[in-house]
Amino acid sequence: MGCTAQDVIAALRAGAAVVAEHRDELIQLDRAIGDADHGENMDRGFRAVVSKVDTAAPETPGAALKLTATVLISTVGGASGPLYGTAFLRAAAAVGDAEELDGAAVAKALQAGMEGVIGRGRAAVGDKTMVDALSPAVEAAKSAAESGEGAAAVLAAAADAAHQGVQATEPLVARKGRASYLGERSAGHIDPGARSTALLLSAFAEATRSRS
Ligand SMILES: [Mg+2]
Repeated sequence: MGCTAQDVIAALRAGAAVVAEHRDELIQLDRAIGDADHGENMDRGFRAVVSKVDTAAPETPGAALKLTATVLISTVGGASGPLYGTAFLRAAAAVGDAEELDGAAVAKALQAGMEGVIGRGRAAVGDKTMVDALSPAVEAAKSAAESGEGAAAVLAAAADAAHQGVQATEPLVARKGRASYLGERSAGHIDPGARSTALLLSAFAEATRSRS
């Protein structure tokens, strides 16, 4: 029921696959309210993560998460590289050198990741950013972990809540990031960063479920 380094690596591969599959969708979403680079950036970043993970073969979940952070910071442009990088870095720090992550450790890692994003991006819930996907995801993860759920179920709860958070960004007027330059015109579009966050969580959940 715990997540080993191999499970985390499998989740990262699944994340890369889902980002590649949704690359054009993310480009279109970012074209509507940003600069149309989110799909390409995320695809390039996660391809690089998979290739680095293959060569470095990290031996703990924390090492895999830290490697992901480093690669994303150096390969993903725009705001999302540093934000995703910080999220993975904080998640890595939260899990330390544990060999295996149970549901509670996964929830803790998600919370630490979100706090890193909030600290770095200074965004709050309702600003129409990835925080709108992360915040409900963290709440759902925490309550699943408190009910004793394992890593896969905690991730599944987080992913479901994140997708609802994504839908909730549609009517919002952006208050952070490039989309905020559009003011009222940013309303009526879902946030690309929130969407990629939810897609990644779904991929992580599905990969973890299929291995548990
Ligand atoms: Mg962009």
